[in-house]
Amino acid sequence: MRGNAPLHDVAHLGSVELYTPKPERSLWYFRDLLGMEPVHESGLSVYLRGYGDYATSTLKLTTAQDAGVGVISWRAASPEALERRAAAITAAGLAIGWTNGDYGRGRSFRFRDPDGHVMEVYYEEQKFVAPPELHSNLKNLPQKYTGRGVGVRRVDHLALLANDVEPNRKFATELLGFQLREQVRYDRGTKEIGSWMSPTAIHHQLAYVMDVKGGRGRLHHFSMWVDNRDDVLRAADILTENGIFIEAGPSKHNNSQGFYLYSYEPGGNRVEVYSGSYLVTAPDWEPVTWNEEERGTGTYWGATLPDSFIEYGTPDVKGSASSKVPEHLKDAIASLS
Ligand code: FE
Repeated sequence: MRGNAPLHDVAHLGSVELYTPKPERSLWYFRDLLGMEPVHESGLSVYLRGYGDYATSTLKLTTAQDAGVGVISWRAASPEALERRAAAITAAGLAIGWTNGDYGRGRSFRFRDPDGHVMEVYYEEQKFVAPPELHSNLKNLPQKYTGRGVGVRRVDHLALLANDVEPNRKFATELLGFQLREQVRYDRGTKEIGSWMSPTAIHHQLAYVMDVKGGRGRLHHFSMWVDNRDDVLRAADILTENGIFIEAGPSKHNNSQGFYLYSYEPGGNRVEVYSGSYLVTAPDWEPVTWNEEERGTGTYWGATLPDSFIEYGTPDVKGSASSKVPEHLKDAIASLS
């Protein structure tokens, strides 16, 4: 048993592929409103990055019939770590197999989590080299801060919906080696509503939260980081001025202490602009568990999260699950950060 000590074979979240049925409008949202930089196009996909991301690309936008999440990529800590994870995941029966790697990356080992989300681990990474017009005067900044739109700095995390949270949390902690940071457990701790995990000091890079519609392989949200809370407030102005639907925030979660703003990009995916939160450096971190009473509405202060925050994910599942969801579970799921 490893206890709570991180395995350290997975270094960090590399990139997330989002599907969009409105590629031009989605590209406008991420490029002009969030201020991400498009760096490459191939087939039905556009690759983008935040100005502070060291990797060439951290978001892949792919044209598809429905919104949702495609391949979620994690960088391994070393070539040996990649081989170890591939072997362990294969032994667990979750392997899809090796690919030659996506843009800017070497060969990748692809697999599914227990819920069916497609993930991959890779090691070889092409460092981003800024073209002259994007060259920063700061030697340690990979790309000029353009000040376009919100100006998101880097990828932070993603939250996935899961039919059953527990096996997915176990998969992420035991097979990927992520450290469990916080949990929401109801019914005297027997019902796992959500789990927040990370392979880095970043509070969480992956969350699994109960899918109240009973779907599989769905996305709750994708999150980009800004340096301070003022940037989140400014994002609310920029998105509203451009007709983007803001679902929740700016406000503060209790779990993760995150300062959040959730909007829907034009393709339908929920996207978070995020700041605040806290770092975790303890190798023996004890996961923080919230019960019904402690959880409250899921916000530390600010407006209560709307029902859509619990029920909507991508791809959308038709029909309302609200009648099937007990009130206390709604509150729990509303804690998603
Ligand atoms: Fe979040």
